[in-house]
Amino acid sequence: MQPTGSGWDVPEDLESAGEFRWWKIAAMRTLNLVIISHTPIWYRGHFYKGRMVPCLGDNCAMCAESVGSQLRYVFAGADTVTQRVGLLETGQSVASEIHDLALRHGQLRGLVIEIGKYSRSKNSRMELRPLDPMDGTWWAKLPIPDIAKALELTWQRANAILPEKKKDRVITKPSDYLAEAYK
Ligand SMILES: [Zn+2]
Repeated sequence: MQPTGSGWDVPEDLESAGEFRWWKIAAMRTLNLVIISHTPIWYRGHFYKGRMVPCLGDNCAMCAESVGSQLRYVFAGADTVTQRVGLLETGQSVASEIHDLALRHGQLRGLVIEIGKYSRSKNSRMELRPLDPMDGTWWAKLPIPDIAKALELTWQRANAILPEKKKDRVITKPSDYLAEAYK
């Protein structure tokens, strides 16, 4: 996340990083996305100082200190209005709602959802509702971002905020910590 930027075109709901962006839903806002992933990517993460960092398994300093962990899911989706692509990270309960909707839709790819935060609370929950499938297939032509690469860059930034004794957590091969979900 860049703390500063130049120019007038400041994106409202996204954080840009390289060639990908993360979808962030602000309080009292909604975003309509068509999911372009064939399958979500998941990893086990620890929430630490406002960021999610991956669990490193047997040698994990966070686990050693009993920092709680949770499953995280990442989907690629395109804004149905701007047609821009970004990544959506969710916890397990939202991911299983998406899974249910994908089963009803027949597949994950092409599922259209409204994601919203309907309360002013900063920590309000993401809520979902299904929308009708989109006319046309503009979204099918969009390239699917490399989610593992995006997580790698994001975790490198997260690593920078860790205290010195946790700095052994340099992520070199994020694919070791990722898996395709819903298999
Ligand atoms: Zn861990």
